[in-house]
Amino acid sequence: MKWYGRSLASGCLAVLAGIAISAQAQAQTYPTRSITMIVPFAAGGPTDVIARIVTAHMAQTLGQAIIIENVVGAGGTTATTRAAKAANDGYTLITGHMGTHAASVPLYPKLAYHPEKDFEPVGLLAGTPILILARKDFPPKDLKEFIAYVKANESKVNAAHAGVGSVSNVSCELLNSVLGVKPIGVPFNGTGPAMNALIAGQVDYMCDQIVNAVPQINGGTIKAYAIATPERNPSLPNVPTTAEAGLPAFQAQAWNAIFAPKGTPPEVVAKLNEAVVKALDDEGVRKRLLDLGSVIPGKAERTPASLGTLVKNEIAKWTPVLKAVN
Ligand code: ASP
Repeated sequence: MKWYGRSLASGCLAVLAGIAISAQAQAQTYPTRSITMIVPFAAGGPTDVIARIVTAHMAQTLGQAIIIENVVGAGGTTATTRAAKAANDGYTLITGHMGTHAASVPLYPKLAYHPEKDFEPVGLLAGTPILILARKDFPPKDLKEFIAYVKANESKVNAAHAGVGSVSNVSCELLNSVLGVKPIGVPFNGTGPAMNALIAGQVDYMCDQIVNAVPQINGGTIKAYAIATPERNPSLPNVPTTAEAGLPAFQAQAWNAIFAPKGTPPEVVAKLNEAVVKALDDEGVRKRLLDLGSVIPGKAERTPASLGTLVKNEIAKWTPVLKAVN
């Protein structure tokens, strides 16, 4: 019995050691096949656009294709739940954001994942200032008129968003609470389709991330009342800040970042992070992101650890705000 136990134990140890060595070997040769990048919103929206710009460069660095899979629903939480449960081998990743990896925590009491416990942070891709946008024939001409109009027509106006917990939902909830109004919310699977509805004049206004709005504002297909950051954005020099336009209390900037399922080997996370850093240093990638108004993270903000801290801080920041708004 004793003999049997010892041999079983040493056999088990040998198997475990074998597994550890092969996991390490796999991490060293990673990636040997294509990688799936889940985007939790519709194609053509801000998260999708940022993910496509950065992963196209990462694929060159990693020597493997990165296939974008748009998985929509429930403000991005359907896709994020799927990513949390995916194999933690580096072949399934997610581009999450301030909504999926922070605001969803207080908004979904039964959230099937926890942004900190179920993911390995890989790297921050871009900061995305929020703008107050409207269909081009919406009557108010500037932010002051917008505030008065929305207050006077609260039960008639509607605001498009990308589902409960999405950035567009959370930031307009914040705006509406600052204004003391409760307009009708119109949910979409992402602000890509919501933007199409705004351009078509089917919805009145929206709070959206800048990358989705710059081409439309410059093309005159929608209007922008203000950008909710302390400074104007170089891609939209004529759009005033909320402070300049008379609403300093409304400040909002989102972010998009890559996450891997918890337990993804550290060597794999390090390789992916290196590829993110390299992409963000590339002139072509930088130009595309900057032209769309993104804020490119500095060196110190690009580490997995700093993304982990961002997630922690953002959950702590949004939890009391969103509980108060509700
Ligand atoms: N980021 C989302 C998208 O790409 C929209 C949102 O969170 O509001 O559509």
